This record gives sequence, structure tokens and C-alpha cells, in this order.
Amino acid sequence: MDELQRVVLVHYHEIGLKGHNRSYFEKRLVKNLQALLHAYPIVTIHRISGRIIIFLKEGTEDALACRCAEAAARIPGVARTSTGFKCERDMDVMSAVAIRALAEAEPFVTFKVHARRAHTDFPLDSMQMNRDIGAALCEAFPDKQVKMHDPDVTLFCEVVQNACFIYAHTIRGVGGLPVGASGRVVCLLSSGIDSPVATWKMARRGAVCIGVHFSGRPQTSDASEYLVDEIAEVLERTGCIAKVYTVPFGDYQKEISLCAPPSLRILLYRRLMMKVAEAIAHLEHARALVTGESLGQVASQTIDNLCCTDDAVSLPVFRPLIGTDKLEIIDDAKELGTFDISTQDAPDCCTLFMPRSPETHGKVEVVREAESAFPIDAWVEEIVASAETKLYFRES
Ligand code: ATP
Ligand code: MG
Repeated sequence: MDELQRVVLVHYHEIGLKGHNRSYFEKRLVKNLQALLHAYPIVTIHRISGRIIIFLKEGTEDALACRCAEAAARIPGVARTSTGFKCERDMDVMSAVAIRALAEAEPFVTFKVHARRAHTDFPLDSMQMNRDIGAALCEAFPDKQVKMHDPDVTLFCEVVQNACFIYAHTIRGVGGLPVGASGRVVCLLSSGIDSPVATWKMARRGAVCIGVHFSGRPQTSDASEYLVDEIAEVLERTGCIAKVYTVPFGDYQKEISLCAPPSLRILLYRRLMMKVAEAIAHLEHARALVTGESLGQVASQTIDNLCCTDDAVSLPVFRPLIGTDKLEIIDDAKELGTFDISTQDAPDCCTLFMPRSPETHGKVEVVREAESAFPIDAWVEEIVASAETKLYFRES
């Protein structure tokens, strides 16, 4: 069997992809895969009839092909990935390759063959291919059963113009849309559990995410900044963060805490954060802000208080976790790989100058009135000017 090449097949959902969107979506996904899978021995990545095929270098080990398929499955826009082979269009070769491909899908009990002929210049039709390859597999796997409806594994055999692709082992991907397909947003990114998950969810819907982290510096250490950098490195692996702005925020909180009514402090900090994030959004051509808030989780996340923070800005504020339970968010954070970082202790601006009994039903007029005692516009300008930035994943 000479021309046997390892491939990874990347499938995406076509639901919601209409007309010219589709070609853009596919190109975006190919570019992201190329950029994010650079550590694997890839020869080329091509779009072929409704899916993307990653061609691996000759001699790529099976285990490495599997790891490549797992890495690809975590990239937004990918619905499923399969490990398989490209081989010549010869029924003897195809049957032998099918045996190898099916073995890779262990453990399973039932299977079926699904053959397809994209080119009618191949002498056998799909029914005949199903029968012949099925017979070879039954002989090679005498303890397995053929099951036409809902089998454990389906072995796909696809004959195209000059070659044949055979694959069985398939894993589920994260789905969504490729990063870069849905515009740009600014995400308020703390080192807590929630906002990394919120950022990831927006990236999974195709948004390019720019993070803004408010550090308690100089009133606290810079420990939270290191944690946010670690979180960003996790998000970067799947292309889910483009850049992070870090801003020292401690002195402004101190100012607010010295002069504002204690119960309104948190709302005033949060409004200032939103205004800074909005100014950064304008610089970054981003059209919305994103937070990790979830309804009722803490005092600042009541409907009244969310209205008070929204009132500070004119950009829309997206809260992808608003209806999510903490336990679900924790599961997502574990899956994403940020949970262990987020549970390390680091003081950030959230832990600074907290009042004993914060307002839970803020009134917009009252908060605006309290805010008018501070030179907010000048502060926003100062804070943005003092921001440090770091680049992560760049769409090409
Ligand atoms: P998280 O786990 O994301 O920190 P939280 O449950 O601690 O959220 P809050 O502290 O009220 O809740 O923060 C609500 C949201 O405000 C966060 O999800 C995040 O989007 C934003 N935020 C809070 N603190 C910061 C910070 N230091 N830097 C950037 N954004 C922040
Ligand atoms: Mg927090």
C-alpha cells in the first residue's frame, strides 16, 4: 500500500451558512486551522466538498494524527473531526485501509459502511462498495455486528476524482463559528472563573475578543495580571483571544472609596470599568462589550444594578452567562482549562475597598449624581493612556 497518507477530516455544521457566507466561513476556518495547528506535521489543508481535509506528512504516527484531530476539534467552527487515510482508488487497497480505519475506532460493537462516489468515473457504485468493503470488514472483525440504524461507528469511504478517503474514528468538536466571522468585541477579563468562560463563548460564536483587565495595582500586587496572562494563553491555543489590555485601576478605586457613599462604590467602580472598556472598544473598532455576569450571582448582578452599569455606556453589553448557574460555568471552565488558574488566589481590583453593605437595587439617577463628583472623562483618558497591551492570537 504505497500512497497511503494520514489525514484529519474536519466537519462543520452547515446550518445557518447561507450563500456567500459559506465561502467566507470556510476560508476563515482554513486560515485559523493553519495558524493554530502549526505544531503538527501538516503538508496542506484543503476544502473538499463540504469539509476540510488536513493532509499530514508521510510517516506521521497514528497517535500524532489523533492528537491533531483532538486539537482541531477544540477550534471554534469545528463540529467534528475524524482521523483517516487517503489511498488509491483500488478496491483491494480500500478494503485493507478500511480495516485499519475501523480498528482505530475501538471500542465499539456495531458498525456500518457508508460509501460515496463523488465521481462517476469509478466503476463501482456506492451500494456495491458498501457490500464489498462491508464483507472485508465482517471477515476482519468477526465479533462485531453490522447495524444499519444507529450503529456505534460508521466507516466512511469517499471516492473523489483521483483518490479515496477512508475514516471511522470521529470525535465531537466545540461547534460554533470560526473566530473572525462575527466582528470584534471587548471583554472585561478578570482572573475569576466567569469572564474567561464568557470570552470563550463569544469567540465560539466567531467574535474576535480583545480583553481588558483591571489590576488593583498600585494598591495591590500585580499577581492577577500574571493569572490573566495564563488564562489568555489557554484561550489563545484555540484562537479565542487576540489581545489583552492591562490597566492599573487601584488609585481610581481609592479615590472613589474616599469620597463616594460606601453603598454605591461598587456601582461606581463598575461604571468606570465599562467606560474604559468602551473607550478601548472605539480604539479597537469593537462594537460591543462582554462581561461574565450571571443574574443574581452577587450584589452587583441584580437587574437594577446591571441597568446602572449599562447606563454608563452606549455600546451594547453582552452577558453570555446571564442565565447560567455557577456549577455549569465551573464545568465549562474545567473543560476550557482555565478553572485551575482562576481558583488561585490573587487580589485584583475586585477585592479592593469593598463596602460592607453594597447597594443591591441601584437607581440610575442616584448613581449618576454620585458619579458627577468625579472627573470621569479625564480619568478614562488617563487610564486608557496608561494601559499595557499584549498580543495573542492574530487572525491572518
Ligand atoms: P469573574 O469570575 O469573571 O471575575 P465574578 O463572579 O467575580 O466574575 P464580579 O467580580 O462582579 O463577578 O465581576 C463581574 C464581571 O465584571 C466579570 O465577569 C468581568 O467581566 C468584569 N470584571 C470584574 N472584575 C474585573 C477585573 N478586575 N478586570 C476586568 N473585568 C472585570
Ligand atoms: Mg471577579
